[in-house]
Amino acid sequence: MSEFIPILTREEIEKRVAEVAQEISNDYRDRDLILIGILKGAFIFLADLIRHLSIPVQVDFMCASSYGRSTSSSGRVKLIKDVELDLKSKHVIIVEDIVDTGVTLAYLVEHLKSSGAASVGICALIDKHERRKVEVEVDYICHAVDKGFLVGYGLDYAEFYRNLPEVYHLKL
Ligand code: 5GP
Ligand code: MG
Repeated sequence: MSEFIPILTREEIEKRVAEVAQEISNDYRDRDLILIGILKGAFIFLADLIRHLSIPVQVDFMCASSYGRSTSSSGRVKLIKDVELDLKSKHVIIVEDIVDTGVTLAYLVEHLKSSGAASVGICALIDKHERRKVEVEVDYICHAVDKGFLVGYGLDYAEFYRNLPEVYHLKL
């Protein structure tokens, strides 16, 4: 039987999301900011985060899928949906659910830079260290873990459990 080990409660999520939103609001006070949510996992995190911002912000979405993760091979990334807003001279922050190997984010940062963004920051709900393959600088992190497969608050297993209000380590 699978086991759900609590990692983050609703209260912990709410507190950290508000704190991170405050940091972003301070850091980007005088800049044109676009938050780019990475579908699908970041949709709940992004929705909560933007409601705590105290500065003007535009929102867009991208969708990427990576291959080769399970075989720990090169990890190719395929862009399924690009942003629609013009990023020229805009400061963007990628909003991601979880950073694992770092392959997806490294690809997305390069892609957004080549789309003309003035700067590209990263905000992640979870920073998971153990399997990191590519150095990525995550500017804003709500919570760090070493390992484990996490679900809830947007994160899925086979598209299920995204609706759980808390984050769990799923042991199959
Ligand atoms: P990376 O390229 O950093 O290895 O992959 C990051 C992506 O893999 C995340 O955006 C997420 O979709 C997926 N992923 C990595 N670890 C987990 C996890 O623990 N739980 C879930 N649900 N997805 C994960
Ligand atoms: Mg993802």
